[in-house]
Amino acid sequence: MATMKEVQRGRLLVGRLDHGADLLGEITAICRDADVRLARIQAIGAVQKARLAYYDQTEKTYRSFEFSQPLEILSLAGNVSIRDGEPAVHAHLVLADAEGNAFGGHLAEGTVVFACECMIEELVGEEFVRNHDEPTGLPLWKIQSSEKGA
Ligand code: ZN
Repeated sequence: MATMKEVQRGRLLVGRLDHGADLLGEITAICRDADVRLARIQAIGAVQKARLAYYDQTEKTYRSFEFSQPLEILSLAGNVSIRDGEPAVHAHLVLADAEGNAFGGHLAEGTVVFACECMIEELVGEEFVRNHDEPTGLPLWKIQSSEKGA
């Protein structure tokens, strides 16, 4: 069964990312500087180029791929939680080309901002820590059930 936790809303950080910044690196830096340890992230804008990844469930490894042309960010959806003791961003990106064709994937380093409006909604409560998950091979949240005896 799914394990869910109730958390509270914290600060809401709203801003614009720098032209030429690495999209993943910049959002990670903002969260670490502001000590945001759990959050929901949403952004729109455009990138000069993109590097995304697809998780191969059989090989249990990320396969990255690149787009070298300017693209719209139709949607960046992501979260912040703790990995190796530090706030880490996990985000997915839906991009569109000049014809409106959309594609996307797991946001990787190497995606360069053209312009980006970003909102980071901090959540407060228990920490969500990523740990190796055997069935998937992914660093997933290890959530303790709050039920007695579980
Ligand atoms: Zn992902």
